[in-house]
Amino acid sequence: MIFLDHNSTTRPDTAVVEAVREALETHWHNPSSVHRAGQEARRVVELARESCAALLGVRPRELTFTSGGTESIDLAIRGSLAAAPAKQRVIVTTGVEHHAVRDACDDLARRGEAQVRLAAVDAAGVVRLDALRELLTGDVALVSIQWANNETGVVQPVRDVAALCRERGVRFHCDGVQWVGKMPARLGTGPDALDCDLFSFSAHKFHGPKGAGVLYARPGVRLVPRLHGSQEQGRRGGTENVPGIAGLGVAARLAQAWLDGPAQIEIPQLAQRRDAFERAVLGACPDASVNGPPAPAPPAQRLWNTTNIAFPRLEAEAILLALSERGVCASAGAACSSGSLDPSPVILAMGVPPERAHGSVRFSLSRETTPDELAEAAGIVGEVMARLRASMP
Ligand code: PLP
Repeated sequence: MIFLDHNSTTRPDTAVVEAVREALETHWHNPSSVHRAGQEARRVVELARESCAALLGVRPRELTFTSGGTESIDLAIRGSLAAAPAKQRVIVTTGVEHHAVRDACDDLARRGEAQVRLAAVDAAGVVRLDALRELLTGDVALVSIQWANNETGVVQPVRDVAALCRERGVRFHCDGVQWVGKMPARLGTGPDALDCDLFSFSAHKFHGPKGAGVLYARPGVRLVPRLHGSQEQGRRGGTENVPGIAGLGVAARLAQAWLDGPAQIEIPQLAQRRDAFERAVLGACPDASVNGPPAPAPPAQRLWNTTNIAFPRLEAEAILLALSERGVCASAGAACSSGSLDPSPVILAMGVPPERAHGSVRFSLSRETTPDELAEAAGIVGEVMARLRASMP
């Protein structure tokens, strides 16, 4: 099997599996208990918090453990809205966010609890800062914009967004789920740091376990909790998922070691590998095109691991099933993957015509993907497309 669906999830590292196992077997006690066994479990949680904090360059107490990206985002959005003054009922976001953001915003709008304003994006899916600026009026409670897109890998100018929000005194949440572990992510005010108020990420996107995530909140940023309880400084009630958090901590340490060392050579190599795959697929399927900035796309514009290719007049679902039969795992927009034939709202928001959006497929690499796997996969994609086209009426 050739797994090119790493934006959905990644293989947990061996050391991560070991940490999860050890937490289950040895540190299964409740970290809120005062006895020694409980305090050992607490130590596991706090060590993991330190590793996550080191990865972001922040202080451990600024982090809240959650059940993953979706919950972190939910707490950031609803917790901010609930903490904002009554006259601030607007959330500003874009049409290319992950459905964790989109669905939370739609739900708040449907209930009449918030008004949602979408900042326009350009044809590459990048937010237009001039359009965003116009929307930042005194009634805005929160801006939520992702760092990198899960479907296209397109990178948003989040530092400029943060500066704009700071200038207007508006709170900024950044969805960093696809960025963390793949690229350096320093939060705060130093050079190259991202000066956001809230920041979400999730372990299973960088070789950690599923069901463990983090919400960073800058000191002084008030949130009304969604789950009440004394844990996580009262910001998120519920007994902590010690095995998941232990695995997340190890994944964070490994990601940092990779980013500080090998990544500096490997990221450009991985991007070239992805570009070569893209060229091979486009060569085999002349009417196909890339959704997002075309290759060679530097990692500052498009994550080194992602390519989203439109195959006109075909359906993504049929392509994914045919690829899966040949042993290649890829993915499509959220709606397609849930069995519906609706094209991805993200791809549509970029202005891609529906006949292209319907046949758009995402291939995503991990730091473990090899050139041989990509060459073989490109050959299979070409053959599958030729077969699907030949069977069209
Ligand atoms: N945000 C982005 C950009 C994502 O890609 C994902 C997951 O794919 C999420 C949020 C949700 O994260 P989780 O799966 O941990 O709930």
